[in-house]
Amino acid sequence: MTANSTIIANIAAIQARIATAQQLSSRQPPSPTLMAVSKTRSAAEIRAALQAGIEHIGENYLQEALAKQIELHDQHLCWHFIGPIQSNKTRTIAEHFSWVHSVDRAKILSRLNEQRPPQLGPLNICLQVNINGEASKAGASIADIPALAELALSLPLLRLRGLMAIPANTDNPSQQRRNFAAVRKLLNSLRQRFPTAQLDTLSMGMSGDMEAAIAEGATILRIGSDIFGSRASTAAD
Ligand SMILES: *Cc1c(COP(=O)(O)O)cnc(C)c1O
Repeated sequence: MTANSTIIANIAAIQARIATAQQLSSRQPPSPTLMAVSKTRSAAEIRAALQAGIEHIGENYLQEALAKQIELHDQHLCWHFIGPIQSNKTRTIAEHFSWVHSVDRAKILSRLNEQRPPQLGPLNICLQVNINGEASKAGASIADIPALAELALSLPLLRLRGLMAIPANTDNPSQQRRNFAAVRKLLNSLRQRFPTAQLDTLSMGMSGDMEAAIAEGATILRIGSDIFGSRASTAAD
């Protein structure tokens, strides 16, 4: 487990990286939102991140997330579900999260809409796009995104906010930028097609590629290992 002081210092360093990347890309404020991705991390580690100003938490595994939500119920946090979604889990997701970033098929949209408790207000949705068409990856194809967006926009208890992507893994900054630019262009095409929708979100950029994502207009960065330390090294804990 990474010590609390390290987590706090890591977040300060990331905020500085965000500011620098924003200046370099001549992007106008507002800054992207920094989401802490806390899969495999404890509630105590999340509390350290909160001390450094984090308000948005991303979780991949439902049972693990629910346990931490109970431990952290005294905190005012915005919980984002970012992991694979099985259809028998949609009710619990709809009841316990403010955002879902990993929706890639129509059935999941319909179920989340049916199962969202109306008193919680609409559930914020990002459609996950498989931007490089990788066979091994989740996400809808680029071609399927417009129809999914149209469906999401027709469902009253969902609020479609934009797109989420995990591009092909590469260390090459210009390739990273090309991938993120493709996501940005896809969101722009949705904006033209659905001009009254609130399509304001590009959920993209992780520890290894956040600068490229910022340069291409990311609005939510999903950062795990650069906040909490590498998951691989803690696998044997
Ligand atoms: C784990 C994860 C992240 C964070 O990745 P890091 O490389 O640790 O920053 C972001 N998004 C998703 C969907 C993840 O599963």
